[in-house]
Amino acid sequence: MKSQREVEREYNKLLQDVATKDYYKVDLTNRVNCYLCSCGQITKTKDLDAGTTPMFIKCETCGKDARSTFYQDIRPDQEPTYEWYRPALKEVLKLRSKETTLDHVLSGGLLLRKCNLSLTVPR
Ligand SMILES: [Zn+2]
Repeated sequence: MKSQREVEREYNKLLQDVATKDYYKVDLTNRVNCYLCSCGQITKTKDLDAGTTPMFIKCETCGKDARSTFYQDIRPDQEPTYEWYRPALKEVLKLRSKETTLDHVLSGGLLLRKCNLSLTVPR
């Protein structure tokens, strides 16, 4: 397991890369992706940060693998229900025991969470 210090060092390096490298210079306005499942369900996601996202996620309906459409918005009328984000250092440190996830994040990967719909839906 990586030490706290190692994680901190790699995370700081990552933030530096994110701020300077071309790979991370993407327009995040309306950067949505669709994940299509064999059951027909489309799980729509939104990128809050610039980074790597996996080709498969679990389908929000049946839990099987849903495949990325590589940022093709095949359902423009559907709102994203999940969002990709870069965790803050505090959260990254908690991932130390989950090696695969930690490596993913430290090499520029984003994590997935359910959108906070109460923020976007007017009451
Ligand atoms: Zn499904």
